[in-house]
Amino acid sequence: MQNYKSVWENCLKIIKENLGSENEQVYRTWFEPIVPIQLEDNVLTIRVPSQFFYEWLEEHFIDLLKKTIRLQLGPNGMLKYSILMDTSIADQPIATNIPSVGRQATVNRPKDVPMVISEDENGHEIPNPFVWPGLQKLRINSQLNGNYTLENFIEGDCNRLARAAGYAVAEKPGLTSFNPLFLHGGVGLGKTHLAHAIGIKTKELHPDKTVLYVTSEQFLQQYVDAVKNKNTNDFIHFYELVDFLILDDIQFWSNKGIHTQEAFFQIFNYLHQRHSQIIITSDKAPSELGTLEPRLLSRLKWGLSADLLVPDVETRLAILRQKLANDGIDMPEEVIEYIAYNINTNIRELEGALVSLIAQASLNHRQITLDLAKQMIDQFVKSTSREITIDYIQKVVCDYFKLPLDSVLSNSRKRELVTARQLTMYFAKKMTKSSLAIIGLQCGNRDHATVLHACKNVVNLSETDKQFHHWVEDLEKKFRE
Ligand code: ADP
Ligand code: MG
Repeated sequence: MQNYKSVWENCLKIIKENLGSENEQVYRTWFEPIVPIQLEDNVLTIRVPSQFFYEWLEEHFIDLLKKTIRLQLGPNGMLKYSILMDTSIADQPIATNIPSVGRQATVNRPKDVPMVISEDENGHEIPNPFVWPGLQKLRINSQLNGNYTLENFIEGDCNRLARAAGYAVAEKPGLTSFNPLFLHGGVGLGKTHLAHAIGIKTKELHPDKTVLYVTSEQFLQQYVDAVKNKNTNDFIHFYELVDFLILDDIQFWSNKGIHTQEAFFQIFNYLHQRHSQIIITSDKAPSELGTLEPRLLSRLKWGLSADLLVPDVETRLAILRQKLANDGIDMPEEVIEYIAYNINTNIRELEGALVSLIAQASLNHRQITLDLAKQMIDQFVKSTSREITIDYIQKVVCDYFKLPLDSVLSNSRKRELVTARQLTMYFAKKMTKSSLAIIGLQCGNRDHATVLHACKNVVNLSETDKQFHHWVEDLEKKFRE
């Protein structure tokens, strides 16, 4: 007889492992608050804090939940949600205050959790990738994630070349000079998304092509298994049948898997000769992948190497807006801007901040306001040691004086523009760790002496000019809020 608590505990372990350490925040936000309440006839009931929370789980994690429940309870396992209603928004007033019990749960529609069957795009069941296909046309699960399309991959200066190359490759796989296409860039900048998107576009344009996405970790694991089972030849042949191979995160092989790298090298040569397309992604540029096998490394340089960079604020705004539109969530413009201006590390963190904010608001039944966003983001970024950015300072100053940014950064000597410009530089010096030279560069390409002069001028004027003093104080308050 299984106990509901231990079953859920095991589920959490699986979920945590599947989400991976880079999604800790997601795990904490969406899974830790869940409380298991009973297990009867293979139906596990879990309590979630709100309707929104339930919908979010359903929309974003249903596959993971299905898989997990099936692993724990077998093919007939089911999941039921119970929603804890907040007494403050309950439809009937409650006389006594029994917070631990809350309003007893409305059980929403029970969730049927069927077997997960791998299917290809046409809904045919497919064998696992290691079934040797004989002479038939190979039919495999391409492992492409349908959410990562080219259409929802926002274009910006940070990814234009990579995206354009990706499109060209999807149009003529194996026939451009971008073979292999090597995508590199820091963590969370969209390599995996773009690689899937190119694969999906290829399938759209060339339905007869066999596309396969595999992570370097999976590939290594499969190779190790093949060695154990003495079928490395089948393993290599299998990969040689693919028309379009995407290998994600090759930096994973640094310092390990020499034999795996050799196997891949052999596959690579065969595919390349046959004009099959290869896409490889990496956190590092080829020149920094020194610990990879030299022969393999030299192959990576045959095609095109395209970087993904940190997106500028316009792109960050567009990504946030798209995510909100896709999820059907309304958020005040000032909140969206606050997030976009303040999270400037990578897109994964940008999305993480957005999700946490929505979760916070939902858990506490609060409106999403600028205040809430500030509280949350301050907490969120503490761990990633963030400082206020020069971009953000410019935006606050421009909004305050209702002046357009480009005139503030221009060379105009108009009094109001000079004031705003100098205040921007002053606050940038005061509130960021940037050097005078960097501040000058970002404030309309000025030199460090100009910035220094601006800072001194602001200090002088705020001592002698009452109006000016008031501006400085007001702005300071805005930054501290
Ligand atoms: P990487 O593989 O480089 O670590 P991912 O491809 O996993 O990064 O991207 C992290 C998150 O950011 C994903 O949720 C992805 O959908 C999103 N993302 C990245 N780039 C874009 C973009 N240009 N437009 C929209 N979403 C993006
Ligand atoms: Mg990735």
